[in-house]
Amino acid sequence: MRGFFHVEDGGAALSGPPPQTILSTMFAEVIVDIAHSDVDKIFDYLCDESVVAGMQVVVPFGAGVTTGFVMHVKETSEVPQEKLKRIYRAADALPALTEESLMLAKKLAARYRVPMALALRLFLPAEMRTGKVSERMQTFCRLSGEAYEISPRAKAQRGLAEFLEAHGETEASILREKFGGALKALLEKGIVVEEKRRVFRDPYRGEAGERTVRTLTPAQQAAVDAVKSTEKTVTLIHGVTGSGKTEVYLSLIADALAEGKTAVFLVPEISLTPQMLRQLRARFGSRAAILHSGLSAGERFDEWRRLREGIARIAIGARSAVFAPVENVGVIVIDEEHDGSYSSESSPRYNTFDIAYLRACYHHCKLVLGSATPSVETYMRATEGEFELVRLPERINARPMPAVGIVDMRREVRRGNASAFSSALREKLSKCLSEGNQAILFLNRRGYSQTVICRDCGYVAKCENCDVALTYHSDEDCLKCHYCGARYRMLSACPECGGKHIGYVGTGTQRVVGDLKKLYPGARVLRMDMDTTSGKEGHFRILKQFADREADILVGTQMVAKGHDFPFVTLVGILDADMSLHFPDYRSGERTFQLVTQVAGRSGRASNAGEVVLQTYDPENYILRFAARYDYEGFYRHEIAMRKATLFPPFAKIVRVMVTGESEAETVEALRDVYERLKLLYTAHSEQFLFFNRMHAPIKRIQNKFRYQVLMRLSDGALLKEIYAAVAEVQRKDVLVYAEENPSNLS
Ligand code: ADP
Ligand code: ZN
Repeated sequence: MRGFFHVEDGGAALSGPPPQTILSTMFAEVIVDIAHSDVDKIFDYLCDESVVAGMQVVVPFGAGVTTGFVMHVKETSEVPQEKLKRIYRAADALPALTEESLMLAKKLAARYRVPMALALRLFLPAEMRTGKVSERMQTFCRLSGEAYEISPRAKAQRGLAEFLEAHGETEASILREKFGGALKALLEKGIVVEEKRRVFRDPYRGEAGERTVRTLTPAQQAAVDAVKSTEKTVTLIHGVTGSGKTEVYLSLIADALAEGKTAVFLVPEISLTPQMLRQLRARFGSRAAILHSGLSAGERFDEWRRLREGIARIAIGARSAVFAPVENVGVIVIDEEHDGSYSSESSPRYNTFDIAYLRACYHHCKLVLGSATPSVETYMRATEGEFELVRLPERINARPMPAVGIVDMRREVRRGNASAFSSALREKLSKCLSEGNQAILFLNRRGYSQTVICRDCGYVAKCENCDVALTYHSDEDCLKCHYCGARYRMLSACPECGGKHIGYVGTGTQRVVGDLKKLYPGARVLRMDMDTTSGKEGHFRILKQFADREADILVGTQMVAKGHDFPFVTLVGILDADMSLHFPDYRSGERTFQLVTQVAGRSGRASNAGEVVLQTYDPENYILRFAARYDYEGFYRHEIAMRKATLFPPFAKIVRVMVTGESEAETVEALRDVYERLKLLYTAHSEQFLFFNRMHAPIKRIQNKFRYQVLMRLSDGALLKEIYAAVAEVQRKDVLVYAEENPSNLS
């Protein structure tokens, strides 16, 4: 793609190329790429026949130049022709957006009341919009085929010619490096010819693993058949961990390709492990384009282009890959459908399932959801017949689920064991290590751990920008805020009372690693949490090291729970199963069940039997009991009855309107404004409100921004449109106001 000018939100005006002189009677409806409600409308421009819907174009706008998207091309305009300006040019001959993307963007903009430009941006990577990345061109050289003679003294030239005879076409830079100026000489003589071609940056060069196509087990085949034969658009595959769901998805994707169609395969970001990528690459080769956060801008640009041009036909990626520019879609898969990462956390706050469903309807294709622990809402829709339900209750080769032992940590404390490891866990860990196997130790959160308190007055060290407690990091001997990343020097005395008795409470991943090294000096320990996974390589490097058995124990947070397949892991320890239970959120039970089941599922996946030790201070808790027995049905029946009795989702809808800004006065004013508008709705439809109030958000300040909210619980979604409309009306410059539906995080 050629680079093009881009003016962001009224930036400095650039001059575009002179207007073309060809006269034309065509008119383009353009949305300018400025996400502001003032310019959120269609502008008509003059254009010629080469302009089509979906194109990204460069247009004169106000006194400057900006880019925009052509929504529609028509033969007449309401606006008198002399008042219209002409499109300068197309940013790219290939329309960036498909007809389907335009249709979906319109729906999104209307549903979430966001400017059209913001909705359109979801459909192409930032690299495409800003024009900062372009296609990579390379020059390739080959012999012209003419008979030639080279003087015996020109050794380099002879060498080069022989090299090309032996290796065929070769990239110019390689030849220049090997043979220096000889290349230029041969080009001038016409012995060698060159050709400039576009190449794709390939993020997985040399990563191709072995191609393993497995024969589906009868249960897997039945699942594939069920998806294909049902009249329902959506199928939920409820399969225990290790039941071979991935193979079912891959088979459905391969079938779609065989029919000449394309596929979209969504997984949580964390599941895009090197093993998974290698497996996909081995199976589908360059037909698969993989979109994830570890790619460079150039790689992301190329993977997207390969999809848009139809060169790659499977889009694999996290949440945002649901917008992949594939046409003629044959199947869409959402793996680990319960995962919280499927709800967007920036505007528009879309739900991945909703987009996937719209796309499946558009293409008349199947949408497959898979999970060992479906969300309560999804499972209800499946059991009530809205979705097809397929069960895979057994692991591959009938491997048993690992036995889960619940350990009462209160008893450990009474026995004088104040460490993070129960005696049962220590014993099993020793055994696991001595047998040469691997173990995973899971801690619920990085937060809540190693909080610094004054033992004299109870002072807790907090972040100055955020209303949260700081966490001690021993490796850097400093205090960190997990919300904004701010760092503080470790306290030597209490700033409140001057006392010197500074202590820690809780256990963090770091401390666990330290303790492990003391207990098992010979063991190689890896840590995986937000601190160790930043940067481009991120979690990739750690997971690869563990998979390659360069470590014996992996200690981590939620990240270790996701669908990893490590065959040598025979022990999983859940150090603090209670943490998420006591989270103030209606979904804390559901989350805890999912977490425990998912982490436990990492154990004993290959021929060695696995075990799980679940440590808790609440051993009678019914959620933990159900999880320890892998009794999803039991958990679900209990949970759904409670939600029904207390009127929580899916029997109600929780909507939070968040108001956040740096000035407390302005934030409160915006809160009052939106509250008054919502109150009109409340007064007119009070029968639909189960709860309605405004208040501080549980965390009152994050990154120096004050946080207030209007919290609503509604009997259904009938008023959503009006709520979004009210929110859209109070957008102000320095305060962010937005609505969230059943937010996955209520902090
Ligand atoms: P899930 O996604 O349900 O947790 P996986 O797809 O990871 O399960 O499969 C679990 C294990 O079983 C993997 O190691 C996978 O390679 C293996 N597997 C899956 N299907 C088959 C099959 N048909 N034959 C042999 N092994 C299989
Ligand atoms: Zn902070």
